[in-house]
Amino acid sequence: MRAAVVREFSADLSIETVPDPACPQDGVVLEVAACGVCRSDHHGWMGHHPKVASGSILGHEYCGTVVEAGPRARHSVGDRLIAPFILACGNCPACATGVSNTCENQIVPGFGAPGAYAEYVAAPFDHNLVHLPETMSPALAAGLGCRVTTAWHALTDRAQLRAGEWVAVHGTGGIGLATLLLAKMLGAQVVVVDVVEEKLTHAKSLGADAAVNATDGDVAEAIREITGGGAHVSVEALGIPATTNASLECLATLGRHVHVGMPAGDHVTMPINMRAIYLKQLSVFGTRGMPSWKYPSLLGMIERGDVDLSPMVAREVPLSRASAELRAMNGPTPPGTAVIIDLKQ
Ligand SMILES: [Zn+2]
Ligand SMILES: [Zn+2]
Repeated sequence: MRAAVVREFSADLSIETVPDPACPQDGVVLEVAACGVCRSDHHGWMGHHPKVASGSILGHEYCGTVVEAGPRARHSVGDRLIAPFILACGNCPACATGVSNTCENQIVPGFGAPGAYAEYVAAPFDHNLVHLPETMSPALAAGLGCRVTTAWHALTDRAQLRAGEWVAVHGTGGIGLATLLLAKMLGAQVVVVDVVEEKLTHAKSLGADAAVNATDGDVAEAIREITGGGAHVSVEALGIPATTNASLECLATLGRHVHVGMPAGDHVTMPINMRAIYLKQLSVFGTRGMPSWKYPSLLGMIERGDVDLSPMVAREVPLSRASAELRAMNGPTPPGTAVIIDLKQ
């Protein structure tokens, strides 16, 4: 099969012909229909992810059609499926108690297993996969493996967001946009933060109640002013010290900080404002992914039109453009996300 392979960090992915994936006993092989290009991929491509090495195939936000099913697979050849990026085992205590996104035996294609920047990808533990709704484009569905589900779980589970509350969103990439759209659906007021004016304008056109350009000065103070004393919930969607501290400092007393951005490279450890946490008695949540049992309710809301996530996909690109999209993430990116939809080009 054709695949984009990491050979040298920060250099163009190598488009190669590699062996087709073997079909897992308890899973399927998908012909990839679409795969999102995510900032986590950028961390891996830069050499900042412990599970990405020379020879790795990135790609963890994918959907596709089953071309081969193992003897213990739940799905069948021909099924069109969406995969969450965390493929949980289904048997451990975490899986048994509904928190499969913390499964200790999880497999994540793209990080430690071959990913979906390729014509085919193996998905073991296929009980995690769900049917792609007829009405949903593969490009949009690809984001439901990572950014949308992560944002949904951050808001509804970790932050326990309530209608009418103020949510601050630090970073308006894929996670940030999904957070904005879902928080608006839930009846919250949303203030977005970025350094790219065009992204702030884009976010406001999608319903953001207020926008703060982080290059204009003290972000936290601006948000405290806009919200009349601080946000109730703040979602950090980048993983760097400036946004992390702005997120903590913009919160109201008893506010909830939800950390979504992956701290990588030099930011694995970082100085944070503990005094803000202490004085305002904040709650600080980490979050990663979503247990796959939450898919039906989320997909139902999207299918019924309660929320329109289509503005998230800004660019549909061929596999040969993946390197350019990763390279673009070295600096501030334009609004919306890129999704690979042609794996043969
Ligand atoms: Zn992702
Ligand atoms: Zn498990």
